[in-house]
Amino acid sequence: MRQVRRKIVDPSVRTYLLKAKKEGIKLSWNRFEDMLPQDGFGRLGLYCHDCLQGPCRLNPFSEDEERTICGLTKENLVNRTLYRLVSSNDLDLNASDLDCGCEDNDSLLGLVRCQVESMKVMGGSRNVQGTTRQIGLGVLREDYINICLEGVSPVFMNMVQNLAEELTEEATSKGARGYNIVVAGDISPVFPFSSVSNIGGVEFAVLTGLLDFYMVGTKGLGRGRNVVPHYHTFFAQADRSICKVKVKELLVQAAIAYTKRDKSKILASDQISEVELIDLDKESIQTNINNGCFKAVCILGGGTNLKVTQDALLCEAAVRLASMGVLCLTYGNAAVTLGKYGYLQKAGDLNALVSCVGAELDVVKILDLVESLDKEKVIGLMPELTMPRDISNALALSGSGVKVLTSINLPLEGSKAVGAEINKLITYCSPSDYVEEALKALKL
Ligand code: SF4
Repeated sequence: MRQVRRKIVDPSVRTYLLKAKKEGIKLSWNRFEDMLPQDGFGRLGLYCHDCLQGPCRLNPFSEDEERTICGLTKENLVNRTLYRLVSSNDLDLNASDLDCGCEDNDSLLGLVRCQVESMKVMGGSRNVQGTTRQIGLGVLREDYINICLEGVSPVFMNMVQNLAEELTEEATSKGARGYNIVVAGDISPVFPFSSVSNIGGVEFAVLTGLLDFYMVGTKGLGRGRNVVPHYHTFFAQADRSICKVKVKELLVQAAIAYTKRDKSKILASDQISEVELIDLDKESIQTNINNGCFKAVCILGGGTNLKVTQDALLCEAAVRLASMGVLCLTYGNAAVTLGKYGYLQKAGDLNALVSCVGAELDVVKILDLVESLDKEKVIGLMPELTMPRDISNALALSGSGVKVLTSINLPLEGSKAVGAEINKLITYCSPSDYVEEALKALKL
């Protein structure tokens, strides 16, 4: 029991943790524990395999090992590690981009600003006000072919939605009522898809025995892979070039997988909650800050990382800060986390702890809001940084003057100088001090 609590604070997944154990399935937590200690050079950011002369690594304690084969210093390596992480989010960079971008924090923030601009073009202006979505393992339906999409592009989602309608007869011929498409690790304001879990909960979705097709795109993490081989679930990885013909084939495979469900392994969940999305009214937020109705603004974001107790800090921060009159805003993966615990605004409920502005992409609306606010009254809380997009979003917030706190160590400690500089942008706090540090930063 004590071990289960340490993994994740969600009590409703306890049955799935026990189910996995009973079925002899190793989950990501087991894999993590099995591989400890993780590679020390990688954790410090002192490792490189960018060319076939390497891989190179520099011993942080050796004065003789000053440079890699091609002459990179420890500072260069650490900067490169972070820069590579951030740039893998969207931009294709060549070696000279890397060298020039690794010079200092300004270059790093410049890269992030480029990304934010391209995100604004993709989705910054869309309205989501009043859109409702369901969240939780209970969105998987027993009489439908359940398809889970994680980290796929909007173009791909559109293809799946259209083809699922086209293939309704294929589904009914297999005894299902149709296709039920859900997403993992994000909210879907544009497509009418529910969110089954955050990126750290997909293994539980597979463990329900109801997930027929699990598709991971280039921006997905794919932790559900650990469970897929033990179930009927059909798995595929989407690359950027995937075409309509291929997607159609995949949906046919999903229908076949539905016929192979093992009834003895099905354990459906009743975890389901609703969220109503909002558009940000900058003027009204500013007025409420001026007249003291909102003491501050807190942005809750980021991934789901098993290096800390999953979901714990985000939920604790939401409860503590909202109860002190702080306006709490969230988006994407963090919204799924908070939504499954029922902390998000629902239709007609204006007293919710946290309001959701939409998908990961909609973080640009929050960035736009904070530009005009007094930065002393804004904080970014991303306790579980995980994916490149999380680091980009954290840097984008800090680049606009907002203090950002995390409880995940970035791979920077190989260089004290670089570590100190980045820590000014994204400040590390231990999990035990995290919420207190947030309150202190806001002078609450
Ligand atoms: S440090 Fe230089 S030589 Fe070594 S792997 Fe990286 S790019 Fe190649």
